[in-house]
This record gives sequence, structure tokens and C-alpha cells, in this order.
Amino acid sequence: MNVKNKLRMATVIWFVGGLLLIVSAFQINPWLVGPLIIVLLVIVNIFSHRLKCSNCGTSVLLARFDVFGREIWFWSSKMPDRCRKCGYDLRKG
Ligand SMILES: [Zn+2]
Repeated sequence: MNVKNKLRMATVIWFVGGLLLIVSAFQINPWLVGPLIIVLLVIVNIFSHRLKCSNCGTSVLLARFDVFGREIWFWSSKMPDRCRKCGYDLRKG
């Protein structure tokens, strides 16, 4: 499974898991569902931020932004087709 599919899978797990938790709030205690949604969000976030380029090891969600010649790195939610640092094709793996 390549990095792009892993992020896609994490997004699906986050969405379906969140939906199931919200639906289950009507069945179980709603005060328990809130913290569980936060736990799910944190786990999916940590997983997706740990996805790295298999060529250079840079996190694939880390994006570079140039402001007046200065490099600024920030976390993005969108993954590019190619690594932002080394240009490696992330669809390969
Ligand atoms: Zn790379």
C-alpha cells in the first residue's frame, strides 16, 4: 500500500468512525462519545502526520511555503503526488 492510500484509509477510518460514534451517542451515554471522538481524532492525526516519504523520510503532510525568500514549513491536510522535498513519486510507495 502506498503512502497516498494510507492517508486515504486514515481519512475513511476517521470519517466512518466519527459517524458511528455520533450515531451511537443515541444508544450509549453521549458524555462518553465526546472524549472517544477526540481520541479517534488524535490517533488518526498522529498516524497521518507520521506518514513519511520512503525516499527521504520527510513527512508527506509537511508543506513548504516561500515568503519573500524565506522558507516556512507548515502542516497541510493535503498530500501532493510528489514529495515536496525530494520530488519522489508518492504514488509508487
Ligand atoms: Zn522525499
